[in-house]
Amino acid sequence: MMMFISPRLGASLDGDALPQKIVCRSCKEVLYEGELLKSPQDVIKKYEGKCPKCKKELKFSTEGVEVHPYNTK
Ligand SMILES: [Zn+2]
Repeated sequence: MMMFISPRLGASLDGDALPQKIVCRSCKEVLYEGELLKSPQDVIKKYEGKCPKCKKELKFSTEGVEVHPYNTK
């Protein structure tokens, strides 16, 4: 069985903010990635509620976007 590592959804603001990546759930377009933790709502607002690539409506209810920890090495 694979080990499951749950993403840190902005919960840990105690000095160890992981880089974050937010992707469109339907086409996997990267909507945001960076070192700052952003709320998916902000990102959705930035794109006016639509994915710039597939034009699908973005919703944050774990339906429209996915939030992943960004793997750095
Ligand atoms: Zn998309």
